[in-house]
Amino acid sequence: MKLSLIIPCYNEEAAAPIFHREATEVLRGMDAEYEMLFINDGSQDQTLAVLRSLAAQDPHVTYLSFSRNFGKEAAMYAGFCNAKGDYVAVMDADMQDPPSLLPQMMELLASGEYDSVATRRTTRKGEPVIRSWFAGKFYQLINKISNADIVDGSRDFRLMRREMVDAIVEMGEYNRFSKGIFGWIGFRTYWLSYENVERVAGETKWNFWKLFKYAVDGIINFSQAPLSIASWFGIFMTFISFLMLIFIVVRKVAFGDPVDGWASTICVMIFIGGVQLFCLGIMGQYIAKTYMESKHRPHYIISETNQEEIIKVK
Ligand code: UDP
Ligand code: MG
Repeated sequence: MKLSLIIPCYNEEAAAPIFHREATEVLRGMDAEYEMLFINDGSQDQTLAVLRSLAAQDPHVTYLSFSRNFGKEAAMYAGFCNAKGDYVAVMDADMQDPPSLLPQMMELLASGEYDSVATRRTTRKGEPVIRSWFAGKFYQLINKISNADIVDGSRDFRLMRREMVDAIVEMGEYNRFSKGIFGWIGFRTYWLSYENVERVAGETKWNFWKLFKYAVDGIINFSQAPLSIASWFGIFMTFISFLMLIFIVVRKVAFGDPVDGWASTICVMIFIGGVQLFCLGIMGQYIAKTYMESKHRPHYIISETNQEEIIKVK
């Protein structure tokens, strides 16, 4: 029985060796064969050199290095395609996903009752309040309008059986939103809660704008609800205009008032124009995703590895 850890790394020269040291300590105590698969996601710092030297010291370490930054989703996918273990876990390099949880997670899987053990943060200590608020709203919304089944505070950190990993690899879509994919494929999942841990070294790669775009991507990837906004708006506006028509006709017949109001006409025109552009924009988002999907570009390009055989996409 073998355990694979997938560790996406982007500018993690400081954190990667710490992760390697701490995880090795935990894994040695676990009585299981293991591998650590580091994915260098086009780092601009010395991450690749650090990974080379870790691999030279420790035969458990393999690394794949991308030709540029492809994003964490692509890095995780490369990991899933190349991991050889019967059990596979994705972990951040910054120690925010504590390796000390691994023994407990393995035990839960070994009981045979679950196919995966997922983790969620119960607190968001050390994070801006406004970000936590938006995150909470995002989870509420996406669960309402999609069948992705995403738990608030869920991390990408989970331990999975091979069957589940194969199902994820099977989902070869270009626009990836793993939190949604994990939920969509189903399987029996145990949720393990833990308190937020702060990053051990280096800096977070996420700012508010990036997170916002990530949230929008998630919604577009897992729900068609925004597309129906146009129809609902259309029905609503038709109804309102019908009422207004009756009002104007009655006013003319009863009181003989001519229709006045240049300003109100312009307001209504601008409003309708705005709604139309908004709806077009939503459609544009879906069309852009379809366009990227139809190109069938590779998810990532590997420029260097110490692995004998590379599996690009299964
Ligand atoms: N990461 C990556 N590619 C990217 C951005 C991030 O592989 O383009 C990795 C990063 O090295 C880390 C993990 O994804 O191991 C999570 O990133 P980070 O800690 O910055 O996110 P946060 O924990 O702040 O949400
Ligand atoms: Mg982090």
